[in-house]
Amino acid sequence: MFGRNYYMRNSAMTAAWIVLMVIWGGLALYIRLIRPLILAKHPYKIEKVVSEGKDTYSVYLLPDGFERPAFKAGQVAWISRGNSPFVISRNPFSYSGSTEWDAIRFSIKKAGDFTNSISEWKPGERMYVDGPYGTFDLDDPRMQKGLVLLGGGIGIAPIMSILNTMADKGDKRPVYVFYGDLNEETVLFQDEFESLKSRLNMTLVQVLEKPRNPEACEYKGYITKELLLAKLPENYKELFYFMCGPLPMMDAMHKHLAAMGVPKSQIASEKYEMA
Ligand SMILES: Cc1cc2nc3c(=O)[nH]c(=O)nc-3n(C[C@H](O)[C@H](O)[C@H](O)COP(=O)(O)OP(=O)(O)OC[C@H]3O[C@@H](n4cnc5c(N)ncnc54)[C@H](O)[C@@H]3O)c2cc1C
Repeated sequence: MFGRNYYMRNSAMTAAWIVLMVIWGGLALYIRLIRPLILAKHPYKIEKVVSEGKDTYSVYLLPDGFERPAFKAGQVAWISRGNSPFVISRNPFSYSGSTEWDAIRFSIKKAGDFTNSISEWKPGERMYVDGPYGTFDLDDPRMQKGLVLLGGGIGIAPIMSILNTMADKGDKRPVYVFYGDLNEETVLFQDEFESLKSRLNMTLVQVLEKPRNPEACEYKGYITKELLLAKLPENYKELFYFMCGPLPMMDAMHKHLAAMGVPKSQIASEKYEMA
């Protein structure tokens, strides 16, 4: 660029390129050097790894020698495993535990290179957590009349964080949970839901796409507009909706909510897939 004198043919263009180089160079330096150096001072260790159902495990992490940073239910963090925080990539996961617990919890479904090894992770191993990130906040004024939480598959993870946090804080806001999964084998957190029922003002509707035992399953197929309308109270337009799940499910939920007249400003969604 210096030699051709095309992109830098006058001083304004040269200055613009130098500013851009400083910005991008600074960002690279922050991401690859400064951020890992900060993380290096805040290592976590695995307390335990618990199976939650088919191909899904929860990992509980404790801070190793520092006070655990606060996070909000519904937020996410980028995590890495191993003794060095200088890694090429970290993977994003929702916090799935209560903000009030000592340990932080992530619930992880096997999907590829990083997540497939989770069943081999051992207590005492070192991990790094870059977070929290995200804007979901149970104190948001739009959420005070009640919540509708729509989860599909592993998308139930942030919802477990919201529910456990509300239970631990004695939050008695009405909360309607619609949880869709494939069948009795893939469904997650059954015991946890059972114990949360008595601690929350919660209506739980569990929908199985292809139940193994259809007679014993109350709601089969998908979460439909009709099911939402049947289970939600009259003031459903005033409630706040949070959804997390596979993209086709989220698209369907957005369509149902639009048809039901729920204002867009009352809806938040967490996408796990980039496309
Ligand atoms: C904001 C956010 C929050 C998230 N929260 C959670 C969470 O709480 N829990 C959770 O479990 N996940 C969560 N995810 C998704 C999670 O980050 C990814 O599943 C994970 O990072 C994938 O990393 P990996 O190295 O295991 O998979 P990769 O190897 O990167 O694989 C990624 C994708 O490629 C596909 N793939 C991999 N190998 C093959 C193959 N051989 N053939 C065909 N396809 C293949 C997989 O289906 C997978 O979807 C979240 C994602 C985002 C963006």
